[in-house]
Amino acid sequence: MKAWVGVLAAALLVACATSPLGRRQLNLFPEAEMEAMGVAAFQQVKEKVPLSNDRAANNYVRCVADAVTRDVRASETAARWEVVVFENKSANAFALPGGKIGVYTGMLNVAKTQHQLATVIAHEVAHVLARHANERASTQFATQTGLDLLGVLTGTPSASKNALLAVLGVGAQVGVILPFDRAQESEADLLGLDIMASAGFDPRESIQLWRNMGAQGKAAPPEFISTHPSHQTRMADLNARMSDAMKLYERARLQGRRPVCSPTR
Ligand SMILES: [Zn+2]
Repeated sequence: MKAWVGVLAAALLVACATSPLGRRQLNLFPEAEMEAMGVAAFQQVKEKVPLSNDRAANNYVRCVADAVTRDVRASETAARWEVVVFENKSANAFALPGGKIGVYTGMLNVAKTQHQLATVIAHEVAHVLARHANERASTQFATQTGLDLLGVLTGTPSASKNALLAVLGVGAQVGVILPFDRAQESEADLLGLDIMASAGFDPRESIQLWRNMGAQGKAAPPEFISTHPSHQTRMADLNARMSDAMKLYERARLQGRRPVCSPTR
Protein backbone atom coordinates (compact mmCIF):
# COMPACT_ATOMS: atom_id res chain seq x y z
CA MET A 1 0.00 0.00 0.00
CA LYS A 2 2.71 2.45 1.01
CA ALA A 3 4.69 1.55 -2.07
CA TRP A 4 1.68 2.29 -4.20
CA VAL A 5 1.13 5.71 -2.73
CA GLY A 6 4.72 6.48 -3.59
CA VAL A 7 4.32 5.15 -7.10
CA LEU A 8 1.15 7.15 -7.63
CA ALA A 9 2.74 10.31 -6.34
CA ALA A 10 5.63 9.82 -8.74
CA ALA A 11 3.25 9.00 -11.55
CA LEU A 12 1.29 12.20 -11.01
CA LEU A 13 4.40 14.17 -11.87
CA VAL A 14 4.54 12.62 -15.32
CA ALA A 15 0.84 12.05 -15.78
CA CYS A 16 0.23 14.41 -18.64
CA ALA A 17 1.07 12.45 -21.75
CA THR A 18 0.41 12.87 -25.45
CA SER A 19 -1.17 10.18 -27.57
CA PRO A 20 0.41 9.06 -30.87
CA LEU A 21 -2.00 11.36 -32.72
CA GLY A 22 -1.21 14.31 -30.52
CA ARG A 23 -4.16 14.27 -28.13
CA ARG A 24 -3.40 15.14 -24.50
CA GLN A 25 -4.05 12.34 -22.05
CA LEU A 26 -3.97 11.73 -18.32
CA ASN A 27 -1.90 8.59 -17.79
CA LEU A 28 -1.36 7.99 -14.08
CA PHE A 29 -0.20 4.41 -14.03
CA PRO A 30 3.24 3.01 -14.83
CA GLU A 31 3.12 1.09 -18.11
CA ALA A 32 4.73 -1.93 -16.47
CA GLU A 33 1.74 -2.09 -14.13
CA MET A 34 -0.74 -1.75 -16.99
CA GLU A 35 1.06 -4.57 -18.79
CA ALA A 36 0.91 -6.80 -15.72
CA MET A 37 -2.82 -6.08 -15.44
CA GLY A 38 -3.30 -6.90 -19.12
CA VAL A 39 -1.52 -10.22 -18.80
CA ALA A 40 -3.63 -11.12 -15.75
CA ALA A 41 -6.88 -10.09 -17.44
CA PHE A 42 -6.00 -12.13 -20.54
CA GLN A 43 -5.53 -15.18 -18.35
CA GLN A 44 -8.98 -14.57 -16.85
CA VAL A 45 -10.62 -14.38 -20.25
CA LYS A 46 -8.90 -17.65 -21.20
CA GLU A 47 -10.45 -19.25 -18.12
CA LYS A 48 -13.94 -17.97 -18.97
CA VAL A 49 -14.18 -18.27 -22.76
CA PRO A 50 -13.38 -21.55 -24.55
CA LEU A 51 -10.48 -21.50 -27.00
CA SER A 52 -11.13 -22.35 -30.64
CA ASN A 53 -9.88 -25.75 -31.84
CA ASP A 54 -10.32 -24.74 -35.47
CA ARG A 55 -6.80 -25.01 -36.84
CA ALA A 56 -7.53 -23.07 -40.04
CA ALA A 57 -9.13 -20.22 -38.09
CA ASN A 58 -6.19 -20.11 -35.67
CA ASN A 59 -3.63 -20.07 -38.50
CA TYR A 60 -5.59 -17.39 -40.34
CA VAL A 61 -5.94 -15.04 -37.37
CA ARG A 62 -2.30 -15.55 -36.37
CA CYS A 63 -1.14 -14.88 -39.94
CA VAL A 64 -3.02 -11.56 -40.04
CA ALA A 65 -2.04 -10.55 -36.49
CA ASP A 66 1.65 -11.37 -37.10
CA ALA A 67 1.66 -9.26 -40.26
CA VAL A 68 -0.13 -6.35 -38.56
CA THR A 69 2.21 -6.34 -35.56
CA ARG A 70 5.46 -7.06 -37.39
CA ASP A 71 6.84 -3.63 -36.51
CA VAL A 72 4.88 -3.14 -33.31
CA ARG A 73 6.65 -4.38 -30.22
CA ALA A 74 4.27 -6.24 -27.90
CA SER A 75 5.48 -4.94 -24.54
CA GLU A 76 8.52 -3.84 -22.60
CA THR A 77 9.42 -7.46 -21.98
CA ALA A 78 8.16 -9.28 -25.08
CA ALA A 79 8.70 -8.61 -28.78
CA ARG A 80 5.90 -10.82 -30.06
CA TRP A 81 2.17 -10.56 -29.38
CA GLU A 82 0.23 -13.53 -28.07
CA VAL A 83 -2.79 -14.18 -30.29
CA VAL A 84 -5.68 -16.34 -29.14
CA VAL A 85 -8.84 -17.30 -31.04
CA PHE A 86 -11.83 -17.79 -28.75
CA GLU A 87 -14.79 -19.98 -29.67
CA ASN A 88 -17.72 -17.59 -29.39
CA LYS A 89 -20.26 -16.45 -31.95
CA SER A 90 -20.23 -12.76 -31.05
CA ALA A 91 -18.24 -10.51 -33.37
CA ASN A 92 -15.77 -9.44 -30.75
CA ALA A 93 -12.05 -8.76 -30.52
CA PHE A 94 -9.76 -7.03 -28.08
CA ALA A 95 -6.12 -6.30 -27.33
CA LEU A 96 -4.53 -5.72 -23.96
CA PRO A 97 -1.41 -4.02 -22.60
CA GLY A 98 1.28 -6.65 -22.26
CA GLY A 99 0.94 -7.75 -25.88
CA LYS A 100 -2.24 -9.83 -25.88
CA ILE A 101 -4.73 -10.11 -28.74
CA GLY A 102 -8.03 -11.99 -28.57
CA VAL A 103 -10.34 -12.62 -31.53
CA TYR A 104 -13.72 -14.35 -31.28
CA THR A 105 -14.65 -16.79 -34.05
CA GLY A 106 -17.83 -14.75 -34.64
CA MET A 107 -15.64 -11.90 -35.87
CA LEU A 108 -14.69 -13.99 -38.89
CA ASN A 109 -18.27 -13.71 -40.17
CA VAL A 110 -18.08 -9.91 -40.07
CA ALA A 111 -14.46 -9.38 -41.12
CA LYS A 112 -14.80 -11.23 -44.40
CA THR A 113 -11.31 -10.73 -45.89
CA GLN A 114 -7.77 -10.59 -44.50
CA HIS A 115 -7.82 -6.81 -45.00
CA GLN A 116 -11.00 -6.46 -42.95
CA LEU A 117 -9.63 -8.69 -40.20
CA ALA A 118 -6.46 -6.58 -40.26
CA THR A 119 -8.69 -3.51 -39.76
CA VAL A 120 -10.10 -5.02 -36.57
CA ILE A 121 -6.76 -6.19 -35.19
CA ALA A 122 -4.99 -2.93 -36.05
CA HIS A 123 -7.81 -0.96 -34.36
CA GLU A 124 -7.37 -3.04 -31.20
CA VAL A 125 -3.58 -2.78 -31.26
CA ALA A 126 -3.97 0.99 -31.69
CA HIS A 127 -5.95 1.15 -28.43
CA VAL A 128 -2.94 -0.47 -26.73
CA LEU A 129 -0.30 1.67 -28.44
CA ALA A 130 -2.20 4.84 -27.55
CA ARG A 131 -2.43 3.66 -23.92
CA HIS A 132 -6.18 4.04 -23.81
CA ALA A 133 -6.60 1.61 -20.93
CA ASN A 134 -4.18 3.64 -18.85
CA GLU A 135 -6.07 6.81 -19.74
CA ARG A 136 -9.42 5.27 -18.84
CA ALA A 137 -8.10 3.85 -15.57
CA SER A 138 -6.55 7.23 -14.75
CA THR A 139 -9.76 9.10 -15.47
CA GLN A 140 -11.72 6.64 -13.35
CA PHE A 141 -9.23 7.02 -10.57
CA ALA A 142 -9.14 10.79 -10.80
CA THR A 143 -12.92 11.10 -10.73
CA GLN A 144 -13.50 8.27 -8.24
CA THR A 145 -16.49 6.92 -10.11
CA GLY A 146 -17.14 3.57 -8.63
CA LEU A 147 -13.89 1.75 -9.14
CA ASP A 148 -11.53 1.19 -6.28
CA LEU A 149 -8.52 1.20 -8.50
CA LEU A 150 -6.05 1.07 -5.69
CA GLY A 151 -7.84 -2.09 -4.59
CA VAL A 152 -7.64 -3.42 -8.10
CA LEU A 153 -3.96 -2.67 -8.44
CA THR A 154 -2.99 -3.97 -5.03
CA GLY A 155 -4.67 -7.21 -5.95
CA THR A 156 -7.66 -7.96 -3.73
CA PRO A 157 -8.37 -11.20 -5.54
CA SER A 158 -11.99 -11.85 -6.48
CA ALA A 159 -13.69 -8.55 -5.66
CA SER A 160 -11.57 -6.65 -8.13
CA LYS A 161 -11.58 -9.16 -10.98
CA ASN A 162 -14.47 -7.68 -12.92
CA ALA A 163 -13.25 -4.17 -12.31
CA LEU A 164 -9.85 -5.14 -13.63
CA LEU A 165 -11.36 -6.57 -16.80
CA ALA A 166 -13.57 -3.52 -17.22
CA VAL A 167 -10.68 -1.09 -16.87
CA LEU A 168 -8.91 -2.96 -19.64
CA GLY A 169 -11.95 -2.99 -21.90
CA VAL A 170 -12.75 -6.68 -21.88
CA GLY A 171 -15.67 -6.34 -19.50
CA ALA A 172 -18.24 -7.45 -22.05
CA GLN A 173 -17.21 -11.02 -21.39
CA VAL A 174 -18.17 -10.80 -17.76
CA GLY A 175 -21.20 -8.56 -17.98
CA VAL A 176 -19.56 -5.30 -17.02
CA ILE A 177 -19.45 -2.81 -19.83
CA LEU A 178 -17.03 0.06 -19.64
CA PRO A 179 -16.32 1.12 -23.20
CA PHE A 180 -13.65 3.37 -24.55
CA ASP A 181 -14.82 6.90 -25.15
CA ARG A 182 -15.48 8.45 -28.51
CA ALA A 183 -12.18 10.30 -28.81
CA GLN A 184 -10.33 7.07 -28.09
CA GLU A 185 -12.40 5.15 -30.64
CA SER A 186 -11.75 7.73 -33.35
CA GLU A 187 -8.08 7.66 -32.51
CA ALA A 188 -7.98 3.84 -32.69
CA ASP A 189 -9.72 4.01 -36.09
CA LEU A 190 -7.18 6.42 -37.56
CA LEU A 191 -4.06 4.99 -35.95
CA GLY A 192 -5.32 1.53 -36.87
CA LEU A 193 -5.69 2.61 -40.48
CA ASP A 194 -2.01 3.66 -40.55
CA ILE A 195 -0.92 0.42 -38.88
CA MET A 196 -2.79 -1.88 -41.27
CA ALA A 197 -1.68 0.06 -44.34
CA SER A 198 1.97 0.05 -43.21
CA ALA A 199 1.69 -3.74 -42.87
CA GLY A 200 0.54 -4.07 -46.48
CA PHE A 201 -3.20 -4.50 -45.94
CA ASP A 202 -5.56 -2.50 -48.14
CA PRO A 203 -6.83 0.42 -46.02
CA ARG A 204 -9.82 0.95 -48.35
CA GLU A 205 -11.30 -2.27 -47.01
CA SER A 206 -11.66 -0.66 -43.58
CA ILE A 207 -14.74 1.10 -44.93
CA GLN A 208 -16.41 -2.21 -45.81
CA LEU A 209 -15.47 -3.70 -42.45
CA TRP A 210 -17.19 -0.91 -40.54
CA ARG A 211 -20.15 -1.20 -42.88
CA ASN A 212 -20.39 -4.92 -42.07
CA MET A 213 -20.07 -4.10 -38.39
CA GLY A 214 -22.83 -1.51 -38.64
CA ALA A 215 -25.09 -4.08 -40.29
CA GLN A 216 -24.72 -6.18 -37.13
CA GLY A 217 -26.95 -3.62 -35.44
CA LYS A 218 -27.92 -4.31 -31.89
CA ALA A 219 -26.32 -7.73 -31.93
CA ALA A 220 -22.87 -6.16 -32.19
CA PRO A 221 -20.60 -6.12 -29.13
CA PRO A 222 -20.13 -2.89 -27.20
CA GLU A 223 -16.47 -2.43 -28.13
CA PHE A 224 -17.47 -1.87 -31.73
CA ILE A 225 -20.80 -0.11 -31.56
CA SER A 226 -21.96 1.58 -28.39
CA THR A 227 -19.52 4.43 -28.13
CA HIS A 228 -18.21 4.45 -31.61
CA PRO A 229 -18.55 7.59 -33.65
CA SER A 230 -21.64 7.68 -35.81
CA HIS A 231 -21.44 5.82 -39.08
CA GLN A 232 -21.17 9.05 -41.10
CA THR A 233 -18.52 10.56 -38.85
CA ARG A 234 -16.45 7.42 -38.98
CA MET A 235 -16.64 7.12 -42.78
CA ALA A 236 -15.81 10.81 -43.22
CA ASP A 237 -12.83 10.55 -40.85
CA LEU A 238 -11.49 7.43 -42.53
CA ASN A 239 -11.93 8.88 -46.01
CA ALA A 240 -10.16 12.07 -44.95
CA ARG A 241 -7.12 10.01 -43.99
CA MET A 242 -7.35 7.54 -46.85
CA SER A 243 -4.95 9.16 -49.31
CA ASP A 244 -2.21 9.23 -46.65
CA ALA A 245 -3.01 5.63 -45.75
CA MET A 246 -2.80 4.65 -49.42
CA LYS A 247 0.71 6.08 -49.56
CA LEU A 248 1.70 3.93 -46.57
CA TYR A 249 0.05 0.93 -48.24
CA GLU A 250 1.84 1.45 -51.55
CA ARG A 251 5.19 1.94 -49.84
CA ALA A 252 4.64 -1.25 -47.83
CA ARG A 253 3.88 -3.21 -50.98
CA LEU A 254 7.00 -1.84 -52.67
CA GLN A 255 8.95 -3.08 -49.65
CA GLY A 256 7.55 -6.55 -50.25
CA ARG A 257 4.87 -6.49 -47.61
CA ARG A 258 2.11 -8.38 -49.35
CA PRO A 259 0.53 -10.59 -46.72
CA VAL A 260 -1.43 -13.57 -47.98
CA CYS A 261 -3.50 -15.08 -45.18
CA SER A 262 -6.20 -17.59 -46.01
CA PRO A 263 -9.13 -18.59 -43.78
CA THR A 264 -9.14 -22.11 -45.20
CA ARG A 265 -5.58 -23.30 -44.59
ZN1 LIG B 1 -12.33 0.37 -30.21
